Amino acid sequence: MSDTLPRSVLISGAGIAGPTLAFWLSAAGFKPTIIEHAPALRSGGYVIDFWGLGYDIAERMGLENEINEAGYHIRELRVVNGDGERVAGFGTRVFSDLTGGRYVTLPRSELSKLSFAKIENRAETIFGNEITGLQDQPDHVQVQFKHGVERRFDLVIGADGLHSPVRRLAFGPQDRFEKRLGYTVAAFETQGYRPRDEDVYVMYGEPGRMVGRVALRDDRTLFLFVFAKDIGADDLPAQRAALRAEYGGGEWECPRILDALDGADELYFDRVSQIKMPRWSRGRIALVGDAAFCVSLMAGQGSALAMTAAYVLAGELAKAQGRHEEAFGNYERILRNYIVGKQKGAERFASAFAPRTRWGLIFRNQMLNLASIPGLARLAVGRDIVDKLKLPDYCWPASDPR
Ligand SMILES: Cc1cc2nc3c(=O)[nH]c(=O)nc-3n(C[C@H](O)[C@H](O)[C@H](O)COP(=O)(O)OP(=O)(O)OC[C@H]3O[C@@H](n4cnc5c(N)ncnc54)[C@H](O)[C@@H]3O)c2cc1C
Repeated sequence: MSDTLPRSVLISGAGIAGPTLAFWLSAAGFKPTIIEHAPALRSGGYVIDFWGLGYDIAERMGLENEINEAGYHIRELRVVNGDGERVAGFGTRVFSDLTGGRYVTLPRSELSKLSFAKIENRAETIFGNEITGLQDQPDHVQVQFKHGVERRFDLVIGADGLHSPVRRLAFGPQDRFEKRLGYTVAAFETQGYRPRDEDVYVMYGEPGRMVGRVALRDDRTLFLFVFAKDIGADDLPAQRAALRAEYGGGEWECPRILDALDGADELYFDRVSQIKMPRWSRGRIALVGDAAFCVSLMAGQGSALAMTAAYVLAGELAKAQGRHEEAFGNYERILRNYIVGKQKGAERFASAFAPRTRWGLIFRNQMLNLASIPGLARLAVGRDIVDKLKLPDYCWPASDPR
């Protein structure tokens, strides 16, 4: 790469897209710096299903063994009634069959940690700080930070999630690009909960709300809540109160789960939204992952898409020898239609997560039961599981990226 072409790239966010982008940019000969506002990598959170293009990229980063060791192979999705009796569900072998066994469920924080470990010696990393100002100049971006002196970078990439501050600074307020899907999601982990039901995703639903549990290692259990209201609750006490209001009268294990929630220090809590932007870049600033095109948890593939986009963005910058306008244009051309298709699919699927009526619940459960018939299962999930995008191959001049 010529010395006059962009080399220094500031990446905001050390979630999934950020470390992946830093990894591939470093393999392409750029000098990435990652800035993360949290004081350390986040732990806990929620679990994700991971397969397809994301899995392929993780493999190319040399992470396949680690993600399988950190992950779980869930064998059944089981819907129960208020008394805990199975009323619907299916064996998840179809996912494994359709992906050639390359399907794993793992904590999002683990995927982030494993990707980050791959770049610690290849990128400058800054924790506990964040970008507060950006000026896009003809030959650089001038950047101000919450702490410390301002710096200049050749390019700045926002990989800072659904509520991306880089998007706000460079493109405008979030509500211009956010499509709220009308749901709230929450998740927390607890220790020593019983029962466990190893490798089964157990789910209980009432009209407009669901709660599920997954047994994790070290005697931990993860709970996931999705309910059909879009409520704002900024702090832990308000979020706990919102969950009590929604699930307080619930059957099944709701009372015990709410008791466990009282002892949890960390709770993931957010509205369910998508991000739809007319462009993913402006000048020397671009967005990647949820910051650019959040598909929402309803797509079940946001991490894989974040990794795919990070890989393509780095690859296109490498291919264009750092000519950022050309690279940003190609990055978007390769991915936009594919991502739009995933967003549409997620919107269609949203009502299946927490159907708003009793009839809706019954219908959803019948559909889940149909998925237990092998041929039908392949038909039902095949379209969404098998990726239609072919991952481009790029040349990584900084030798073996692993
Ligand atoms: C409940 C739930 C279930 C999901 N299930 C799945 C699933 O099954 N499969 C799947 O593939 N995906 C799933 N997803 C989606 C997936 O988690 C996201 O799409 C993915 O994490 C996006 O990665 P990202 O790097 O773009 O953003 P994030 O992972 O959100 O990372 C953003 C990073 O930016 C940091 N940040 C925020 N503000 C600043 C700032 N001011 N300065 C610096 N850094 C900042 C954050 O701390 C974070 O580290 C799910 C999401 C949810 C909520």
